[in-house]
Amino acid sequence: MHVTLEMVSGKTEEHLSELNGDCLLHQAVVAPFQSLQAVAAEKGIDLQVASGFRSFERQLTIWNAKASGHRLVLDDQSQPFNLVNMSERERAFAMLRWSALPGCSRHHWGTDMDVWDAAAVSPNYVLQLTPDEYQQNGPFHKLSCWLGEHAGEYGFVWPYEHDNGGVAPEPWHLSYSPVAQQFEARLNAQYIRKILDNSELVLKDTILNCLDEIIPKFIFSACIRK
Ligand SMILES: [Zn+2]
Repeated sequence: MHVTLEMVSGKTEEHLSELNGDCLLHQAVVAPFQSLQAVAAEKGIDLQVASGFRSFERQLTIWNAKASGHRLVLDDQSQPFNLVNMSERERAFAMLRWSALPGCSRHHWGTDMDVWDAAAVSPNYVLQLTPDEYQQNGPFHKLSCWLGEHAGEYGFVWPYEHDNGGVAPEPWHLSYSPVAQQFEARLNAQYIRKILDNSELVLKDTILNCLDEIIPKFIFSACIRK
């Protein structure tokens, strides 16, 4: 399937299929993910997606809620950030550690998903997606270890595995690399600038002023395709 700029930026859903009721993935990713689910199940892991595809509009809503202080932004120790005394530039860069700009999220592609193990927690467990849940003594440590050994055999990788000063490590964020690499190849800075300029983005002027710095640091740095 030809990857369009609209697909890369979350402006269309034409490339997606349902994984289950409320989760959409790229239509070429559903079967590989289900294979991974099936082999995980043999080890007692109930591999589930907390978040698959997200649209441009959804990501814009998330960004704006955080940037305007209506939704918490966490720091590297999973503590709430105090954004009040920061300059706009500091606030934007603090947010980019944990939140993608609309048009720039790998979740737009349907190739990436945040995963957890439903068998490891009680049915009323409130999923946080914090690093300690996936580390030793965390409920999803078994999942992390199993994925570390086997996800690669099925084409799944971690774009945010290491802290390179851009996006903070996200042990829950998997990417199906055969398809994700096609999207990475289509990332286009000029197009990103245009859609952000045409959006109702909070901190827009600051973001556009720093965009040449932001794109390599927070977007291209996560690419599997180097
Ligand atoms: Zn994610």
